[in-house]
Amino acid sequence: MTDRLAAPRGTRDLLPDEGPAWSRLERIAAGLSERYAFERIDTPLFEPVELFARGLGESSDAVEKEMFRVSGARGSDEERAEWALRPEPTAGIVRAYLEHGLQVRPGPLRLWMIGPMFRYDRPQAGRYRQFSQWDVEVIGDPGPMVDAEVIELAGRFYAEVGLRNVVAHLNSIGDAACRPGYRAALVGYFGARLEHLTDDSRRRLAVNPLRVLDDKLLEPELAAGAPRAVDHLCDRCRAHFRAVCELLDRQGIAYAIDHRLVRGLDYYTRTTFEFFVAGREGQQQALGGGGRYDGLVELLGGSPTPAIGVGIGLDRTLLALADQGDTSLTTRSALLALLGREGTSLGARLAAASWLRDAGLAVRADGSERRLGRQIDSAARIGARWAVILPDDSAGEVGERTVVVLRDLVAGEQQELRLADVPAAVSGTAQQPPRAVPGV
Ligand code: AMP
Repeated sequence: MTDRLAAPRGTRDLLPDEGPAWSRLERIAAGLSERYAFERIDTPLFEPVELFARGLGESSDAVEKEMFRVSGARGSDEERAEWALRPEPTAGIVRAYLEHGLQVRPGPLRLWMIGPMFRYDRPQAGRYRQFSQWDVEVIGDPGPMVDAEVIELAGRFYAEVGLRNVVAHLNSIGDAACRPGYRAALVGYFGARLEHLTDDSRRRLAVNPLRVLDDKLLEPELAAGAPRAVDHLCDRCRAHFRAVCELLDRQGIAYAIDHRLVRGLDYYTRTTFEFFVAGREGQQQALGGGGRYDGLVELLGGSPTPAIGVGIGLDRTLLALADQGDTSLTTRSALLALLGREGTSLGARLAAASWLRDAGLAVRADGSERRLGRQIDSAARIGARWAVILPDDSAGEVGERTVVVLRDLVAGEQQELRLADVPAAVSGTAQQPPRAVPGV
């Protein structure tokens, strides 16, 4: 017996039952991107490893352990090419920004993107090897207003999709002026307590001491006593951070200062933030995160340019909605089945379906020769809310004035009316099939 083919570990198929919920998230993300005046950008799913190694930092988990490498076709010159599937969107966007000279456009540039990211990590609940992010980036804006604006935008997304109790964790990790002092303080503190650190943390201490705070196995008392980034900020970074907090306060946006929030990627400066459902603030539970990366454009070959971005995990947002028992997950627009009698031509069915679709309805036309009763049964089984039954058209054309039967498949009632009156008769009906959405 051959093994059954299955999706690779750590990936998920988006099945038809989940489609409407996923589309809804994408629609809300796209709509907010427009309302906040972001312009769309799309970059390739893979880029040279070098881009991520430089852009994310050799010591980041994304580069060190999770890079999903790909090579060219066997035997080709490119076989050994060092590409990686993108682990995050920012490096590719900044690469495109520099490559296409977008810095000459009147700035700041506000860009958005949506699509899959890849991290070759050990899969577990909420951690996939392929997952999707909605991402926004503002390049060329030093803040602090835009920092508060992107945090507010993320918060609005969670509110619009219907997620409750989302909290923002916030921190500032300083800049090139003050970070070295903070690093030194961490090295001093943890260096004197090496016996309490995991092997991983000892290694982190040598290459990127901030990331010791990221170690989920760090003893809580040790973490609590560690030097705090906010106590080591230079005057400019402190003023920036205070301004961001004040703007959030004025907007009534709840946040918690989180001294351990240093983010995994090396390129972050100043403002960093992550979103969680309150009480569910574990490692694999961040719903999104982002921050300022004032050094990245220069690091990738451009001139010094301040920038900030946020990436929202769509898979985890959907998981969190499912946890809350959100009904929008199973809501879809009312489907209308278009059925014919024995003498109804296929042309009439197609023409009537087309007319109803012009009017904005979701229509599934039955092109079978089955008896009407059978067609009605199967329309109900596929979850149609309504059936429109066309008359025999052997005597003439079916058009807007033709009298049809509109059957309510839930109530089991029916009425006669003109085809042209169907859209008004069914408007405003949403459909909530009783079945649960599996697997989200
Ligand atoms: P990060 O750049 O790691 O902060 O990722 C931004 C967001 O993407 C996170 O807050 C998660 O919501 C989501 N995310 C990151 N990694 C994964 C993963 N392996 N599986 C699913 N979602 C992820």
